[in-house]
Amino acid sequence: MNLPVLDPLPIDEAPREGPLIDTFGRIHNNLRISVTDRCNLRCTYCMPEEVAFMDKRELLSFEEIARFVKAVAPLGINKVRLTGGEPLMRRELPRLVSMLSEIPGIHDVGLTTNGILLAPSAQALFDAGLRRINISLDTLNHEHFRQLTRRDGLDDVIAGIHAAKQAGFHPIKINAVSIRGITEHEVIPLARFARQHHLEMRFIEYMPIGADLWERDKVYFGREILDQIETHIGALAPAAKYDPKAPAQDFDYIDGGGRVGIIASVSRPFCMSCNRLRLTAEGRLRNCLFALTEIDLKPMLRGKTSQDEIAAIVRGNVWQKWEGHEINTARFMKPDRTMHAIGG
Ligand code: SAM
Ligand code: SF4
Repeated sequence: MNLPVLDPLPIDEAPREGPLIDTFGRIHNNLRISVTDRCNLRCTYCMPEEVAFMDKRELLSFEEIARFVKAVAPLGINKVRLTGGEPLMRRELPRLVSMLSEIPGIHDVGLTTNGILLAPSAQALFDAGLRRINISLDTLNHEHFRQLTRRDGLDDVIAGIHAAKQAGFHPIKINAVSIRGITEHEVIPLARFARQHHLEMRFIEYMPIGADLWERDKVYFGREILDQIETHIGALAPAAKYDPKAPAQDFDYIDGGGRVGIIASVSRPFCMSCNRLRLTAEGRLRNCLFALTEIDLKPMLRGKTSQDEIAAIVRGNVWQKWEGHEINTARFMKPDRTMHAIGG
C-alpha cells in the first residue's frame, strides 16, 4: 500500500478527555474493524480480478485487535463491526466476537459478510454474542452472480441467510450495491425476496472506492430505487425513527411488509453526521472510508506503547478528520486502496 502514513503527532489541540470528537463537533462511537483483506469473491465494484493479498503475518492478531478496542472503549466507542475482505475467511472469528463482546463499554458487535461461509458458522457467531449481521447479495440470478463476483456461490449465500435466521439473528440486513444498468433490474427481485423472508433490504449507492472505473452516471440513485419499489411492490413511508442525517434512511412498507434502507453516500452524503473510524486488517487507523492518510498502529499494538498513548493518538486522528469525502466535487481524490483492503 502506498498511502502516506501520518506522523501521529499533532494531538496537542485534541481534547484529552470527554467524547471522541472532531473539529466539526462530530462524536465518534462506531468502529469498523477489518480482520482480513482476503476474499473468496472478486466483486467487480470492489476489487480487481488479480490481487496481491497481505502477508498473513501483517494482520493484527485477535489479541492486538482487542487491545485496540480496550484502548478506545473508554473514549466512547461502543459499537464495533467486523468486516474485510471477507471476515469469515479469518479462522475462529467467533472467538474474536466473544473477546470483543466482553470488553466493558462495547454494547454491540456486528458483522458484514458475503455469506459464502456463513451457513456453518452462523450459530457459533450468534452464541459468541454477535447480534447485528449484514449479508451482501446483489442478485438472485446465478449467471449474474458469477458476472458480478467473478465466482460461483449464490446457493451458499442463500444457505447462509437461512442459517442466520435459524440461529436467531433478527433483523438480518441484506446489502446490495446499486449500479445503473448493472444491478438496477435486481432491485425488485431482491426487494421481493427480502419481503418474503422477513429480511431488511438495503441498497448502497455505488461509490468510487472499488477497482472499477467509477463514474457518477453509473450510480443508480436511492430516489430511483424507492420509485421502482413503490411502483412495483408497494407504498413506503419513512420509518418511525427516520433520521435524515443517518447513513441509512429507513422506509417501511405501509402494508407492514417490512423495511427498506437506502445508503445514499453519493446523492445524499452523510459526512456531517459521520461517527465512524476504521482499523484496517494490518492495524492502520483511518478516520474516513475515503481518507488519504492513515496512522500505523501496529508497532504500538505489538510494542510497549501504553493504552493511554494509543487513546491519545486516536483522539488526535479523529480531531484532524476532514469535513467530508467530496465525491460530488472536482476536488475528490480516490484513495489508492480498494474497498476490500480498507474494510467496507
Ligand atoms: N466481504 C464482505 C461483504 O461483501 O459483505 C465485507 C466487506 S465488503 C467491502 C462491505 C460492503 O461494501 C459490501 O456490502 C459491499 O457490497 C460494499 N461495497 C464494496 N465495494 C463497494 C462500492 N464500490 N460501492 C458501494 N459499496 C461497496
Ligand atoms: Fe469480497 Fe465483499 Fe469485496 Fe465482494 S464486496 S469482493 S465479497 S470484500
